[in-house]
Amino acid sequence: MQTQTPSMPPSSLDLKEGFPLLNASPALSYLDSAATTQRPASVIEAQARFYRDVNANPLRGLYDLSIRATEAVDAARAHVARFVGAQDPREVVFCRNATEALNIAARCFAPVVLNPGDEICVTVMEHHSNLVPWQQACRQAGARLVVLHPDISGVISDQASREAVGPRTKILAMAHVSNVLGTIAPVRALADEVHAQGGYLVLDAAQSAGHLPIDVTQLDVDFLAFSAHKAYGPMGVGVLWGRLDLLEASEPLLTGGEMIRSVTEQDAIWACIPEKFEAGTQDAAGIMGLDAALNFIESIGFNAIRQHESALLAYADARLRQIEGVRVLGPTDPSLRSGVISFNLEGIHPHDVAALLNEDQVAIRAGHHCAQPLFSWLEEPGSCRASFGVYNTFKDVDALVAGLIHVQEAFGVSG
Ligand code: PMP
Repeated sequence: MQTQTPSMPPSSLDLKEGFPLLNASPALSYLDSAATTQRPASVIEAQARFYRDVNANPLRGLYDLSIRATEAVDAARAHVARFVGAQDPREVVFCRNATEALNIAARCFAPVVLNPGDEICVTVMEHHSNLVPWQQACRQAGARLVVLHPDISGVISDQASREAVGPRTKILAMAHVSNVLGTIAPVRALADEVHAQGGYLVLDAAQSAGHLPIDVTQLDVDFLAFSAHKAYGPMGVGVLWGRLDLLEASEPLLTGGEMIRSVTEQDAIWACIPEKFEAGTQDAAGIMGLDAALNFIESIGFNAIRQHESALLAYADARLRQIEGVRVLGPTDPSLRSGVISFNLEGIHPHDVAALLNEDQVAIRAGHHCAQPLFSWLEEPGSCRASFGVYNTFKDVDALVAGLIHVQEAFGVSG
């Protein structure tokens, strides 16, 4: 199909240089930031600096080094609280990743509010990490899992939410941004709806942290989870933010050292939050990396990030739709999409597409993206997914498009 190539908009951000891996691989088009972002030098350095200059167990020890390590973790906690718009740093629990954070919400908070016959609502778009823990919570409490179905582009209508959320709904657990369709959820409206029914909203912010501003007060959510590694921070560090009273009412997931106030031979009294949820030694260097990642994001600002990523998404959307045989999934309205663009090539399996793109040094994800129920419902075998970070450029999109044409040529499918 011959149509005019959409013109490349001017790029406002040019940040590849600050990312050592991307700098060392100029031919690589890394389009898998939804799986994990690359890390800027400042994040890598912050982790190294901890081990080089501050290394001690942050246990409120009585010697200088340990005091410094403790203060550094406390400062990072306060930074995360500001980043998510929280009033109180004690509401920030450090854990390993979004999956662990969501497990804490499901295993520790859900039993506080769930009774047999109650309902937990999730959307059909959820990542398995925000689905399986709720399936388990329902099983344990004799509750029912209700699945909210949006339209096929992931947009949740008022009617769909009214049908799914009712007087028995105790928890609505949902993604801020779908990791497959990129659709941004109307979080505040849904929070109002579930609160009006006496329930709580748990937000999986794994795909929004680092892409969209998050303000737990404005969004009026009750819990929020994200992973540092999808927001320019290190792997192995995650955040659970929870409302103070709800965290206080919940039992810990893990027990042992660092999370107790006192222990007798037969019993133990938990420490206050957040320590109650932070058993064992924390990844303090990783927490320093997260702190540096938040500095990096704030130094660019969400206006610039959103503008840049939206321009990339709009350009990718237009160019992909020009290739005959390409079907783009997700919303057509760019204001409803963030970070991610999924598509399929007629007659070619997504795994084959990704494997051949790799030969052109284009890195995308292919498969079910840990969202199998969504693909069963969409009746799609999976999808190819290109996802963006602040370092991507329009040239990366051009490389993707050129690579897809090579894939079609290799399969003898004309584009
Ligand atoms: N939720 C969503 C929406 C995700 O995209 C992911 C990661 N793909 C997760 C949760 C889980 O994140 P992690 O593997 O870092 O725990």
